Formats: sequence, C-alpha cells, structure tokens
Amino acid sequence: MHTTRWTFCVEPKHISYIRYTLESYDGILTVTTLDPALSLIELKIAPGCEDITRAVLHALEQEEGIKLIKNGAAKTFFIKTMGCQMNEYDSDYVAQLLINNGLVPTDAPEKADLILINTCTVRAKPDQKAYSFLGRVHALKQKNHDIVIGVIGCLAQKQGKTIIDRFPYVDMVIGPREIGEIARLYRKIADTGKRKKLVATSLDRDIPPSVFSPGYFQNRVTGFISIMQGCNNFCTYCSVPYVRGREVCRSSDDILKEAEHLVSQGIKEITLLGQNVNSYIWTGRTGKQYDFASLLKEVSQKHELCRLRFTTSHPKDLSDRLIACFADLKNLCNHIHLPVQSGSNRILSRMRRRYTREQYLDLIRKLREAREDIAITSDIIVGFPGETDQDFEMTLDLVRQVQFDSIFSFKYSDRKGTVAEKMDFKVEEEKKSQRLRVLQEIQKQITLEKNKMLEGTCQEVLVEGFSKRGRQFSGRTTTGKIVNFSSDNTHIGAFVNVLIKKAFVNSLLGEKKDMDLWQ
Ligand code: SF4
Repeated sequence: MHTTRWTFCVEPKHISYIRYTLESYDGILTVTTLDPALSLIELKIAPGCEDITRAVLHALEQEEGIKLIKNGAAKTFFIKTMGCQMNEYDSDYVAQLLINNGLVPTDAPEKADLILINTCTVRAKPDQKAYSFLGRVHALKQKNHDIVIGVIGCLAQKQGKTIIDRFPYVDMVIGPREIGEIARLYRKIADTGKRKKLVATSLDRDIPPSVFSPGYFQNRVTGFISIMQGCNNFCTYCSVPYVRGREVCRSSDDILKEAEHLVSQGIKEITLLGQNVNSYIWTGRTGKQYDFASLLKEVSQKHELCRLRFTTSHPKDLSDRLIACFADLKNLCNHIHLPVQSGSNRILSRMRRRYTREQYLDLIRKLREAREDIAITSDIIVGFPGETDQDFEMTLDLVRQVQFDSIFSFKYSDRKGTVAEKMDFKVEEEKKSQRLRVLQEIQKQITLEKNKMLEGTCQEVLVEGFSKRGRQFSGRTTTGKIVNFSSDNTHIGAFVNVLIKKAFVNSLLGEKKDMDLWQ
C-alpha cells in the first residue's frame, strides 16, 4: 500500500497550528511546507488513514474556521503596484479580496494564474513603466495562455478599452472605483474559460465596503487607510478628478473599524489617505458630523496606536482646527506634507489652486506655532505654462523662506484632457530642466543643513525593515526622516533610540542606544 499525498493552500498564520494539530494524531500523517510563498502544505498520509484525516480536516474547517484549499483549486495571483500610496492601499484591498475568495498570493509573476498591474498616470513616466511591464508579462502569456492579465488603477480608467486594443493579451481593465468587483470579474473569465474581454470603468460606484483578511498585515509595521476617493478641485494640470472621479468620503465607522483592525494586527503607524484629506466630511449614525480634525482625533485614540500620519493636505482647506491637532494629539507625527506647487500668485491662479503665496506662508507660520519643530515637505511644479523667470524666482524665494525639510519637484508635463494641456505659452523643455536643476540644488542644501542639525541628537525611530543595501536596519523619525543603523539584534516593529552620527540629503546614519523605547 502507498502513502497518500494531499496538498493544500492555507493562510500562512495557520501553518504551524495545522501541523501541530494533525501531527498530534500519532503516526497518521506528517505535514510539510512545500512553498512558503504560496502557503502550500503537503500531507503525507499513512496507508488506510485517509478517512480519519478527512474527518480531522473537516473539523478544522467547520469548528475553527480554518480554510484549506485543495491544491489545483487554488489559483495564485501577483500584483505589480506603481505610483502613490493610494495605489498601495488599493493593491492591499484587492489582495485581501482575492484571498477571501480563495486565491493565494505569490511574489513571482511566472507562478501566477492572475497578474494585475496597478497603474498610475500622474505623470508620463509611470504610464511608460506600466506599458513596459505589460511587455514583460506578454512573454509569460505566450508560454501559458490560461494566465489572466488585468490592468487596474488610474491608467486603466483613463485609457479603458484602448489598452486592450493596444495589448490584445490583456483580459480585463478595471478602474479604481470598480476594484470591489475584481474577484467576480476574475471568476467570470477564469471559471467559464471564455476569453471575453472585460472593461469596468464606471466612476459612479460607491466606495466598496472594508475587507479584512486576518493575518494579511502580519509582519507589517505601517499601514494605510483610505478615507475618501476622488477629488473636486480640478487643479488645471491634474488628471485625478477625471480618473478617480468626484470626492466620495468613507463612513467614519468604516474607517474606525479598519483602524481597530490594523492596530489589532500589530500595525504601529497608520497613515490616513486621500487626495485632499482636509475636505473630509461625514455625518455619523448618531448625527455627529465628522470633519477631518474630528476623525483624526478619534483614530488617534485607538488603543495602542503609536503613530498617526495623514496625506495629502490641500492648503486652501487646512483649518485652524486641524492645525491645533498638531498641538493636541501626542501620537500625531511631527510632519505635514503641504503641496505649494508654485511661489507665484499668477501661476497659482493659472493652476487654479485657490490660495495665494501669502496665505500659504501664513499657514506655515501657524503650523510652526502649533509645533515648533514640525517637519514640512511639499510638491513643486516648474515650467507650468506661462511661468516666467520672475515667477520662477518667486518660487525659489518661497522655498528659501519656508525652509522645507524636503520637496518633490517635477517638470510640468501635459496630462490629456486637462485645462493646462490647452494653455498657451508652454515653457521649453530645456528651460524646464534648467529650472528644475536650480530648484533641486537649492533645496538639497536646505535639506542637508536641516539634517545636519540632527547630528549628535537622539531620535525615536520606528524600525520598518532593512536599508536599501540590506546591511542595516532602517526606520523613520516622527518627522518622516529615514534613519539607518547597524545592530546584531532584530528590531523590526520596535521603537528605538538612535544617536545620529552623520546626516546625508536623503537619510541619516545613526547608532542605536542601549535602551529601546517600547515594543
Ligand atoms: S487637489 Fe488638485 S492636484 Fe490634488 S488631486 Fe485634486 S485636482 Fe489633483
């Protein structure tokens, strides 16, 4: 008689419990992990013990809610995420939805039955990156015609069916507002075996309900919660309102439930996300009105939530109540990202930003009054249509005055369908590049000087993982600065005290002090 072998996909957190439970039935079977990336286990069952094994597995599923998916039935998925934190959040959402529908994640696209590319379209470069990844995926599809390929996110919304016209091996195109439908759409293709192309790009859908896959965030230190989708501002250069739709807020109950869940999974730092979090508004079941400041206060009170951040803030909606949170909420991180885009009132008006340089500077003053050492970062576009040398000088002047901790700076590029695309007086490419170089050089000096002021100080660092080169631990200060340090022990997920020895433009190098702050 032969040993029977069964393989199952299970949730990673259940592997050791399953092994412990099944192997406690002496001599009936052994459990081996075949592929940790796929959470694939194999049971080697002694001859004649199949029925009792079946009964034990049934009890595990029925009484303890442990899902055991017979291999062969379990499809695997891979998600390539491009772009902003909102896309990272959406990819986590999609992954949890797929897991709850019986699919299993894999880190290797060549092992996947479903490959999703979560795209961004904020500038021209991410578009090209998505197209080049699609080219690589084509080779996999040529080897295995059963793979389902989906393009999701902003580029999917913007290009819709034209993606399939250009890349006929793509099976589905799903916009950001339709991601709640992804498991159903995948089944429609995979189960029927019909190679019907699916395009889902409605912007009218409500935000899909929260989805929790227990254990999904295990081993993560930081997490995101999207509090709203879309944007109503229509800045003249931006395609977000067209690809993510108008502003829709999530219910405060949903957000608080999600925060509770992340904290229960061991997440130490939560970032609340939205295109313009400052305009968040919700009326709760009790009739209580939540603006962003009141939502922030409630999330901040979540038991054992160590750090709270938010992004992005529109200066025109940054209220005094929200600024006061920096003085009042101890776990609100000492950092705000406040995109200014230009220092010239003429350009701010052409961008339809609806604040002036003076108003922006006043906000900076108030923020520093609320928290003296708050880190302030920003976004700046150079070479917006009609930007003169004088306008650009105003931007440089503002940068010198504010002394940002760092900035993201970009050359203006046309986004299809926006008002700015049709504007006259486009700035030559060479001039844009030259302005970008000047701006970045000035900011580099400011950032370095600010970082140098931290040399010799002790900083509280939340350790998130390893440095880019992998030889050191890496984490962030409450001001969002990256700190790398060496240690023989593992500290991921812990708050440690680090003495800053050397400052660079993009990071700080330190030495861990003996006492950890807390775990
Ligand atoms: S606030 Fe302006 S730049 Fe930001 S997402 Fe909305 S339209 Fe785009």
